[in-house]
Amino acid sequence: MTGKRILLVEDEAAIREMLVMALERAGFAVVEAANSQQAQDALAEQLPDLILLDWMLPGTSGIDLAHRWKKQELTREIPIIMLTARSEEDDRVRGFDVGADDYVTKPFSPRELIARIKAVLRRTVGHGEEEALEVNGLVLDPVSHRVTINGRKVDIGPTEYRLLYFFMSHPERVYSRSQLLDHVWGGNVYIEERTIDVHIRRLRKVLTGEGHDALIQTVRGSGYRFSSQV
Ligand code: CA
Repeated sequence: MTGKRILLVEDEAAIREMLVMALERAGFAVVEAANSQQAQDALAEQLPDLILLDWMLPGTSGIDLAHRWKKQELTREIPIIMLTARSEEDDRVRGFDVGADDYVTKPFSPRELIARIKAVLRRTVGHGEEEALEVNGLVLDPVSHRVTINGRKVDIGPTEYRLLYFFMSHPERVYSRSQLLDHVWGGNVYIEERTIDVHIRRLRKVLTGEGHDALIQTVRGSGYRFSSQV
């Protein structure tokens, strides 16, 4: 991840400065743009590995830019994370419609954003060279399908493995039971939502040994979240 180039398009100077600091501290190289023109200029100069794109920009909006870049041959493959102050479901859907790879709703913590950036970069790094996922000594290797905790192999069932893989590649976000069904079981399978709780319980049990079960958090009334933050 270190040395990956990020193009940050954000018109608010204070947010931009805060993000530049956090991203550079995390080892990313950042190019800043305060508006769509500067963003176009930066892209013409050198293509980044990922674009952080504010939704609300003066003039051409972030959505219009995302739409344009996802249509252009040269920029199509660059993952885009939208930064948005809006949280309405419609807007999220629109964000994904234009091909944004993820979105983060303001206010967010730099730590959360960086976890999302890493997850998106991991997903978009060429297939077949999938990197192992690691959080606090918990390692999942998608190539060998092995899970280890501090170097010790753990026994994990196939469903719990898929669940853990999904959580580790989509950290710091709450998923409802029906969303987990869609993503992990594939949606067209008939499974009661209660079944998910059973697999979550089994997964936690697998992770209990050294306290990694705490990474799988229950969000009351909403669902579950994989998070290294308390
Ligand atoms: Ca803005």
